[in-house]
Amino acid sequence: MTPKMPKAATPICPKCGYDQSGIIDSWTDRCPVEGRCAECGLDFAWADVLDPSRVDLPWYIEHARSKREMMRRTIPTLWMLLIPNRYWKRVGVESRIQMRVLLAWCVVLNAVLYLVTSAVHLFAMFELGRYWATPIATLQQNKMVAHWQFFAQTDMKYWSKEVLGSLLYPFIDVNGLGGELSEAWLGFSFIAIGVPLMWLVILSVVPTTRRLARLRIKHVFRATVVSIGFAFLGIQILRSADAIGLLEGLWVGSCNMKGSINTVSVTLGLLMVVWVYWFWISAIRVGWQVRPSWLLILLGSIATLLGGPMIGGLIGVAFEAMAQLIELLAY
Ligand SMILES: [Zn+2]
Repeated sequence: MTPKMPKAATPICPKCGYDQSGIIDSWTDRCPVEGRCAECGLDFAWADVLDPSRVDLPWYIEHARSKREMMRRTIPTLWMLLIPNRYWKRVGVESRIQMRVLLAWCVVLNAVLYLVTSAVHLFAMFELGRYWATPIATLQQNKMVAHWQFFAQTDMKYWSKEVLGSLLYPFIDVNGLGGELSEAWLGFSFIAIGVPLMWLVILSVVPTTRRLARLRIKHVFRATVVSIGFAFLGIQILRSADAIGLLEGLWVGSCNMKGSINTVSVTLGLLMVVWVYWFWISAIRVGWQVRPSWLLILLGSIATLLGGPMIGGLIGVAFEAMAQLIELLAY
């Protein structure tokens, strides 16, 4: 007896996409529960292949059916992502891929955080302007007075320019405050964008590594979006560190304005780099179950370490050019 299955979808291997209908046609008197893909060697349950929505995860954003559900699943999804092994063990290759849901979630989440960190920036600038306008500050730093008095003014055009600046220049501290943190921010964001894009190239374009992975491109896209989206949340916290350090200096009045904030944010940036690599290695080993995986991990890590920051840098330059163009057009 031929087993019943939905007509619309062709049963394919969840990992490599190899068509499994030939094997199903060969079933004559009984249907096995478990199978193995002849192409990539993945072991799977036939039920998951025939009905992918069977493995929908109750906490995961990609499987949300409404906006409200997406909101409710945001914290659990972020929590799972914090430890990549935990995430990939559950998501694997069998669960449904909803690229549009995933993309929308990553963009909205980052946009919200970006607005918040821009507001923190602006607030710090405002507080600084107020501070320098006081007589004590004026006596202490004569040279700066003219410049900072300009800051303290309540000219709307000036502040609208500041707002635009803090929105347009995520990478560069246009106001010349705490340059070293901005540079760290720049470097870390190159890695956060560039390294996942380089993994994407390695797993989808380069024939040698592609053959080692034997993976549907959809899986690689999913990993790219998730890793850029998540790493960028971390980067944005780093982005507001300059401003928080400044506020700390103004309010608490410590001489070493950014000492502690500096250490925290650079540590955070380094942890982000570790997370990106952990995420991709655990995707290959735990999520996609590539076997053997060591050669792919080795080649991939070397190539992404070399090429990733470069790709990120190029994108950064393009962004900066765009921001300058917008500013030029606005004023
Ligand atoms: Zn397969």
